[in-house]
Amino acid sequence: MSDLTVVAIDGPAGSGKSTIAKLLAAELDLGYLDTGAMYRAATFAALSSDVDLDDHDAVADLTVSLVLEMPPSGDVFVNGHDATGDIRGPEVTAAVSTVAAHADVRTELVRRQRAWATERGGGVLEGRDIGSVVFPDALVKIYLTASPEVRAARRAGEVAEADRDTVAADLARRDALDSQRRIDPLRQADDAIEIDTSHLSIGEVVALIVELVERARA
Ligand code: C5P
Repeated sequence: MSDLTVVAIDGPAGSGKSTIAKLLAAELDLGYLDTGAMYRAATFAALSSDVDLDDHDAVADLTVSLVLEMPPSGDVFVNGHDATGDIRGPEVTAAVSTVAAHADVRTELVRRQRAWATERGGGVLEGRDIGSVVFPDALVKIYLTASPEVRAARRAGEVAEADRDTVAADLARRDALDSQRRIDPLRQADDAIEIDTSHLSIGEVVALIVELVERARA
């Protein structure tokens, strides 16, 4: 096991990863890294520069030169531009799985994720491949799931009933792309602990993971 205190939180969109990982990091006094925001930032940069998203080399070059700032406030600055809102918008959401499928994009972002945790002695990292690829020797690996209905409802938030189907379709499309891609697909690491969050409160899930971390540290 590495001497870093890494807690890996993986799972599909809408499984509760962000909310839970942030609270967990605060509770454990560790830093928090949203790796999905990094793939979104690379996608934002690609869309802003008009490169062909399928052009692996062009998108990879852009990712390697990406100036990415992610302060603890949750803001995301891409090449000096405040992209906090844009990276969550529909254009980036529709394109991110294409960008995330490029091998050299992943190599560069995984390198940055490992450096981030190493500098801090560990942290709570949230994503799709943290326990399987980025930190296979993480102290605790969690794989969060929730039923498709619950995930769509969470992502839909306040949108009108009629838009729920669009949100559900987008989630299903991203799940398919993320789990079927050739490189580092979304998958549960063999030794990850699966938690179905459909019928648990946020507090219950956080408490459960804190207990697992404390047990692993003892
Ligand atoms: O977590 P979020 O939904 O913001 O992630 C956006 C996209 O980034 C995912 O759909 C996936 O394509 C990609 N991603 C990834 N590996 C990670 C985190 C996110 O491929 N570790």
